[in-house]
Amino acid sequence: MDVHTPEQRSFNMSRIRSKNTKPELLVRRLLHHMGYRFRLHRRELPGSPDVVLPRHHVLIYVHGCFWHRHEGCRFATIPSTNTEKWQRKFQENILRDHKNREDAQRLGWRSIVVWECETRNLELLAFRLDAVLRQQTEGDGNACG
Ligand SMILES: [Zn+2]
Repeated sequence: MDVHTPEQRSFNMSRIRSKNTKPELLVRRLLHHMGYRFRLHRRELPGSPDVVLPRHHVLIYVHGCFWHRHEGCRFATIPSTNTEKWQRKFQENILRDHKNREDAQRLGWRSIVVWECETRNLELLAFRLDAVLRQQTEGDGNACG
């Protein structure tokens, strides 16, 4: 169970630097501070997710807003040259992401997409991740410890 008070949590969060760090690293560090155990890049899982939380049966994909087309995001710009080529590339990425999440679901994993821009507000991101991770799967008899 979570032993952190909200005050402790925001203290912990405030110690996480967000400069010059890759989004994946930020997410890992955040989860670590939140007390979650995880593994990295399991190639046998769909799309080689950035973070795997075996106890929660959750996969986390950290997506760049530009390449993975974060809907409505100001970072998901469309280049003005070679536009058609870019659009094709983007479409491929979207389809691949969609398929990975579907495959993950079929294998019994829940998946969370964390957008790059979300790592700019780690407190808000922590709140969202916590909300999903606390939703225990009904009848999940495998969780121990
Ligand atoms: Zn975004």
